[in-house]
Amino acid sequence: MNGRRRFRKIQIDPVRMKDFTIPAFLLAFSMLLIGACRQSAPGTQTAAAQSQVSRPQLSAEDYDPKPETPPALKVNGQKAFQNLKDFVALGPRPLGSEGHAKAEQFILAHLHGAQVEQDKFNVQTAAGPFAMNNIIAKFPGKKPGVIVLAGHYDTNLPLKNTSYVGANDGGSNVGLMLEIADQLHKHPPQGYSIWLLFTDGEEATVQWSDDDSLYGSKHLAKKWSEDGTAAKIRAFLLLDMIGDKDLDIDRDTNSTPWLLDVVYRAAQRAGQQSHFFVRSNTIQDDHLPFRAAGIPVADIIDLDYGFDNLYHHTTQDTPDKCSAASLQIAGDVVMETIRALNTH
Ligand SMILES: [Zn+2]
Repeated sequence: MNGRRRFRKIQIDPVRMKDFTIPAFLLAFSMLLIGACRQSAPGTQTAAAQSQVSRPQLSAEDYDPKPETPPALKVNGQKAFQNLKDFVALGPRPLGSEGHAKAEQFILAHLHGAQVEQDKFNVQTAAGPFAMNNIIAKFPGKKPGVIVLAGHYDTNLPLKNTSYVGANDGGSNVGLMLEIADQLHKHPPQGYSIWLLFTDGEEATVQWSDDDSLYGSKHLAKKWSEDGTAAKIRAFLLLDMIGDKDLDIDRDTNSTPWLLDVVYRAAQRAGQQSHFFVRSNTIQDDHLPFRAAGIPVADIIDLDYGFDNLYHHTTQDTPDKCSAASLQIAGDVVMETIRALNTH
């Protein structure tokens, strides 16, 4: 079953996907595949997407805030953690479930003052047809361009008959994003517009593969590519599994390097760099379809949840494994990253 079989992880340069760990005996083959994937990444951008997108070629240092740069928006980790607990108290949120419908309503009810869009669609998954819904909360800014903060809200369909609630995997990012929504309602963006994107169908429905995963992000990235929205997006910051009490964010080799560097410099300014990028990983997550659409992406994820990632995709992924302190760190660094991106 997806994500529930565990293998010993490789100690040096581990190559891990969002939803399972590659066993040692497959490593050589996987390295070939992933190596090819890395090399071919620029080629995944369509000619149309590339021609639409015109962004400055800057280094991360160019985004360092200046004395006159306005301060970062403040977020409250305690409130984000309360959101997490309230959200997972709704129960499991697999596709097609009552809990999934409650999760949608919970998110919508917390998006005061935003322009809310629902990207509803039907899709044939590996486990049959399902209705899905990406929820987008738009907070207009003062200059043209958009920064997207994204994270998924569904839980794993194969775990639907268990008590699995995904407190960290799905719950943590929703908890923080709803706190950010609250702050953006009180303090509207003064720079780029900020869109909060709650994706659906991130998880596999049977077993993680290129075809059985990332349903919501694939759908929306295609739509945004076709309608010109992709060209307006300056950066796509993905939040995933950021609630772990022992927070150690991976440096994801599938993300855009200069944007990761902006995140790291923001972490340094926030005094939180010890929680960032000690380890490199290759992560498959909701950022990939947007990267393919030509958008700079960064996956802010801690894929080491409990000893040897033990809690990931198990019924042990509960709120007591998460903390307000970790959500505060993630929130502070994301807000400082947005502050930096707004300097250009
Ligand atoms: Zn997951």
